[in-house]
Amino acid sequence: CGIVGYIGAQPAAPFLIEGLTRLEYRGYDSAGIAVLGTSRTTRVRTVGRVRALEASLPKRLNGKVGIGHTRWATHGPAEERNAHPHISADGRISVVHNGIIDNAASVRAQLQADGVEFSSDTDTEVLAHLIARSDATTLEAAVLETLGRVTGTYALAVIDEQHPERVVVARSGSPLIIGVGEKEMFVASDVAALVRHTNRVVHLEDGELATVTAQGFRTFDRASNATDRTPVEISVAA
Ligand code: GLU
Repeated sequence: CGIVGYIGAQPAAPFLIEGLTRLEYRGYDSAGIAVLGTSRTTRVRTVGRVRALEASLPKRLNGKVGIGHTRWATHGPAEERNAHPHISADGRISVVHNGIIDNAASVRAQLQADGVEFSSDTDTEVLAHLIARSDATTLEAAVLETLGRVTGTYALAVIDEQHPERVVVARSGSPLIIGVGEKEMFVASDVAALVRHTNRVVHLEDGELATVTAQGFRTFDRASNATDRTPVEISVAA
C-alpha cells in the first residue's frame, strides 16, 4: 500500500517511520522497515500501527540506508510473517512492493522445486528470491532480469547488502516518487511522505527504474537506456 525509502547522511529509521506515519491515511494492516547498517540488514515488522512498529525498533539502528512499507494484504493474511520488507533466503536482498504479482504462484512453485524455502504467503517474496539468485553482476541488472520473469503491477524498492550505497526502485502500474534532498535522497509512493523534507521530486513513469544514491539518482528504462529526468518543484503544505 505505501512505500518509503531513504539514503543519505542521516540515520534512515526516523524518516522511514515518519514517512510511513504520513501514509497511514491510506489504510494498511501491517508495517515494516529494513535498515542497512555497516554490513547486515536489520528488519523489523509488526501487525497494526506504525506507532507499534516504532516502539519495537532496536535502540541502535543507525544505518543510513533503508526501506519501509505499510501493507494492505492481497496475498496472505495480515500477519507479521507476511508484512514487508521481504528478504531473500540469505538475508542479502530486502524488497518492499505495492501491487500484485500475477504469476507469483507459478514462479513460487519453480523456486520451491529448486529448493528455495519461503517464509511468507505473499506474492512479493518471489521478487526477493529472484533478485538474490540472479547471476547478473549489478543489482540493477538483477532487478531487470527479475521484472522480466514476473507479470502484474508494482512499485518496488530494493536494498542489497552487497551494494549498500544504493536503493534500486521500479514502477509499473503503482506510483513511485524520488525526492531530491541535500546529500540525501528519499523514495515514496506518495508525496505526502516526503513534503517535509524536499519539494523537488521525480515521478517515475511506468516501465521506469532508478538507482538512488546519497548523491543523486539515475533513471533508466527496461532496456537499460537512460531516461533523463529533471526534478519538478511541487508546492504542498507540509
Ligand atoms: N501484494 C502484496 C502483498 O499482499 C503487496 C500489497 C500492498 O500493496 O500493500 O503483500
